[in-house]
Amino acid sequence: MIGSLEAKVPPGPIDKKWTAHRDHSRLVSPNNRRKFEIIVVGTGLAGGSAAATLGELGYQVKCFCYQDSPRRAHSIAAQGGINAAKNYQNDGDSVYRLFYDTIKGGDFRSREANVYRLAEVSSNIIDQCVAQGVPFAREYGGLLANRSFGGAQVSRTFYARGQTGQQLLLGCYQALCRQIAAGTVQMFPQTEMLDAVIVDGHAKGIVTRNLVSGKIENHAADAVVLATGGYGNAFYLSTNARGCNVTATYRAYKKGALFANPCFTQIHPTCIPHSGEYQSKLTLMSESLRNDGRVWVPKRKEDCNKPPNEIPEKDRDYYLERKYPSYGNLAPRDISSRAAKEVCDEGRGVGPAGRGVYLDFADAIKRLGENTIRERYGNLFEVYEKITGENAYKVPMRIYPAVHYTMGGLWVDYNLMSNIPGLFVIGEANFSDHGANRLGASALMQGLADGYFILPYTLPNYLAGQMGKRPSTDHAEFKKAESDVRTKIDNLLKINGKFSLDSVHRELGALLWDKCGMARNAKGLQEALGKVPELRERFWREVRVPGDGEDFNQALERAGRVADFLEFAELMCIDALARDESCGAHFREEHQTPEGEALRDDEKFASVFAWEFQGNGQIAPPKLHREPLHFETVHLTQRSYK
Ligand SMILES: Cc1cc2nc3c(=O)[nH]c(=O)nc-3n(C[C@H](O)[C@H](O)[C@H](O)COP(=O)(O)OP(=O)(O)OC[C@H]3O[C@@H](n4cnc5c(N)ncnc54)[C@H](O)[C@@H]3O)c2cc1C
Repeated sequence: MIGSLEAKVPPGPIDKKWTAHRDHSRLVSPNNRRKFEIIVVGTGLAGGSAAATLGELGYQVKCFCYQDSPRRAHSIAAQGGINAAKNYQNDGDSVYRLFYDTIKGGDFRSREANVYRLAEVSSNIIDQCVAQGVPFAREYGGLLANRSFGGAQVSRTFYARGQTGQQLLLGCYQALCRQIAAGTVQMFPQTEMLDAVIVDGHAKGIVTRNLVSGKIENHAADAVVLATGGYGNAFYLSTNARGCNVTATYRAYKKGALFANPCFTQIHPTCIPHSGEYQSKLTLMSESLRNDGRVWVPKRKEDCNKPPNEIPEKDRDYYLERKYPSYGNLAPRDISSRAAKEVCDEGRGVGPAGRGVYLDFADAIKRLGENTIRERYGNLFEVYEKITGENAYKVPMRIYPAVHYTMGGLWVDYNLMSNIPGLFVIGEANFSDHGANRLGASALMQGLADGYFILPYTLPNYLAGQMGKRPSTDHAEFKKAESDVRTKIDNLLKINGKFSLDSVHRELGALLWDKCGMARNAKGLQEALGKVPELRERFWREVRVPGDGEDFNQALERAGRVADFLEFAELMCIDALARDESCGAHFREEHQTPEGEALRDDEKFASVFAWEFQGNGQIAPPKLHREPLHFETVHLTQRSYK
């Protein structure tokens, strides 16, 4: 293994660790910063904020994304909001409470010190974004407004209608543009990273392909930051943007970076149900809707085909309010998703194929008026109507769980550095803060915490010892990585079969959803492990990738990404099989409480599973390394939202 699995959590009381760590980290003096080149791959909230901040500090940054503009990163899709422990509502919030909710929400499978730091810097994020002009929703008197998200009993979520990600990304993009104009950030849009280059055990560069000209290029740097987002699209259907993929992190994994908890996938309870075989994407209806919408299904199967307004109150089962009275409709995502699956499995689901539950705004409209609901969620209601043709002010929305976010990612230490020195991983691409289940509105918080407030301290700590060590792109490791990239592209173009990429990817997605989705068991996972290699072989024998590599070729782009999903899917199933307990979103059917809740096994599994690449498939299964999780501040308890 390259590097070590040491978490490097600083000593001392939890609320002093980050300050003490910053005080003792090494610095790079202002006049030396321009001598360092840093590669940032990704321009979502994590990568965009990191690149802008590092540029502002005076480093030379090269920033990459595959979209035509940095501001089209998937972060733009985020709807509901961003958490911060400001306690503006005076409802009992605090840094500790945000920390505790996040640790508990993650079912005690995240690292305490990282999560505490996240809660600690959360307030700074809001100040930073307000200073950039992000138009957060405000109360009548002008103060910033808040709403609630799942897994919390306070209102700490800042929002900009249902477009919070877009507004935050515009703020971040302005800061990035300022640095591009100042010459500290060089932007490479429509450029895909296809390999990481490791020189003497340190990450010192990447190999990219220009997606317009097809040109393959090498870029050397003093450090590499991956902010390449999550891999939910392994399941084919997800709420993620169509381009989201695992390529950058998976190829770094194949170069020695450890992949942590790859089986931890978040299934979001409120998405528009799947409606047809040829659908290529699912649409989220933000969790914020559960502030005012009530979730229910008919009590009796016979009522499922009746129009909802003909089902009287006494025949409705508001199952979240019934099962989890203290959190009600704001029970966390893993729990709400499973509860929806359970009622649909019982035959009480609504809509086509019985895979849906109602999210009903009638009470809220009666209480607050349609205008207030329109002000809060108007654009989400419009999206819903465009897709389903139904007016949710008049009839309840129909929703069903869908793949949404990946808690797994490359393993990082407290400094957000992977086991490969010089390879930093931030935002959804790392594994660090959300354990086995992320709470709503915490991903934006984490991405911006990493980019604006953490990496700018921890990266110099590494760089300070790296002066003059940047290799040239003539180094043999660059040549080798480039040659591997070219070979892979040639091999994809040579397959020349007759099946579409989507047909294989769709099959992979259905398999993962079935065997490694909302519920998993050993038998199903073993079956999946038998089928994934077959699908992979079929891909390399029978798909067709038209066009060539010297040009704009979206089929080729997708082919590389699907090929990586087909390898990565196996790692997900291996991880899910090895973690023989239930925790958060990882629900192993063999391990549940009498009430059907996730049953953890802390003695055996209170650890991060970090996998080392040893070669594809069954010939050389990945090697497991464990990072034990130490809980010094919170006590491990059975998670309860009752
Ligand atoms: C529909 C939806 C709504 C959401 N709403 C919320 C919400 O309200 N609150 C919340 O906290 N979270 C929300 N989330 C989650 C949140 O949006 C994401 O977790 C977060 O935006 C991820 O940010 P990121 O910067 O890590 O990655 P991304 O925004 O995914 O950015 C990834 C970047 O990496 C680049 N990239 C990837 N691979 C390569 C490569 N190989 N080469 C070059 N560039 C590459 C891309 O071009 C892009 O710029 C939502 C998610 C979805 C799907």
